[in-house]
Amino acid sequence: MPNIRAYERPTSLEDALRRLHEDPRAVPLAGGTALVAYGVPAEETALVDISELPLDDIEAHEDRLVLGALASLETLARHEAVRAFAGGVLAQAAHAEATSLLRQQGRLAGALLVNLAHSELVPALLALDARVTVQHLEGPRVLPLADFYADVAAALGRGLIVRVDVPAPPPGAVARCQRVARAPRDRAILSVACVARVADGRVDLVRLAASGVREVPRRLAEVERALRGVPATPEAVQAAAATAVATLSLPDDHRASAEYRRGVLPVLIRRGVLGA
Ligand SMILES: Cc1cc2nc3c(=O)[nH]c(=O)nc-3n(C[C@H](O)[C@H](O)[C@H](O)COP(=O)(O)OP(=O)(O)OC[C@H]3O[C@@H](n4cnc5c(N)ncnc54)[C@H](O)[C@@H]3O)c2cc1C
Repeated sequence: MPNIRAYERPTSLEDALRRLHEDPRAVPLAGGTALVAYGVPAEETALVDISELPLDDIEAHEDRLVLGALASLETLARHEAVRAFAGGVLAQAAHAEATSLLRQQGRLAGALLVNLAHSELVPALLALDARVTVQHLEGPRVLPLADFYADVAAALGRGLIVRVDVPAPPPGAVARCQRVARAPRDRAILSVACVARVADGRVDLVRLAASGVREVPRRLAEVERALRGVPATPEAVQAAAATAVATLSLPDDHRASAEYRRGVLPVLIRRGVLGA
């Protein structure tokens, strides 16, 4: 890698944070997949290798899953507790993120920070109301992932992402991920994650997030509002979703036109909410 001035491998989280704090050009190195592919951000970068810090545990609790920030994407895809959680949507999304080699090397924290435009894991985490913990020298800061993306630079500062807490879906709610891509193994053009519950024939609860709708995945709050209380039929859900999606500004790029996205998004939302 060009432009590297120094490489260090601290043995404790505190040492790593101190190095990042002392040196404005120090950069955390986790799995290194993105740093190797895209290069380091500045001349004279000092790499602070955090890959061996003990931040890769996965804990299953009754009400939530706790994912260590350095768990590999492959671990997320294969771990029994992740596969059993929320209908397996996180495991499914982690598997879809990258090829086998990249999944073994790339870590969760890196996947929260790079290659976001077509991420499938981030929408799933957003729909599940995940909370991210950023450790700073002064102490930890826990914030909803959606707030983290509102201003990543401010939320991260010179800190390190250390864990992601994912609450179990509310009772009776089902989590689903839907995607569209040119080929099954291709990057998703649109990826939609949904946590929904139907009660008394109506959509009672709905949380939606998507990638492919702007540079960074986001919650579709406008669509969520439009769907609450709607009759739980495919026609009603798709029509309400289409009306709300019509108000969104969507990308028009080499992957797909805005018009295509506008047509397909309500279908993915309908399948996500109703499973049909
Ligand atoms: C060509 C290519 C395409 C890819 N496409 C996708 C894709 O579409 N979707 C996808 O999910 N993955 C994709 N990947 C894999 C991608 O690199 C991962 O998302 C991976 O999880 C990144 O993790 P890493 O540990 O390798 O990150 P690194 O390369 O080590 O770091 C990535 C960035 O995150 C920072 N960082 C790492 N850990 C922390 C931390 N704990 N706290 C704060 N900052 C941290 C680093 O400083 C760096 O800026 C792709 C990889 C390549 C090479």
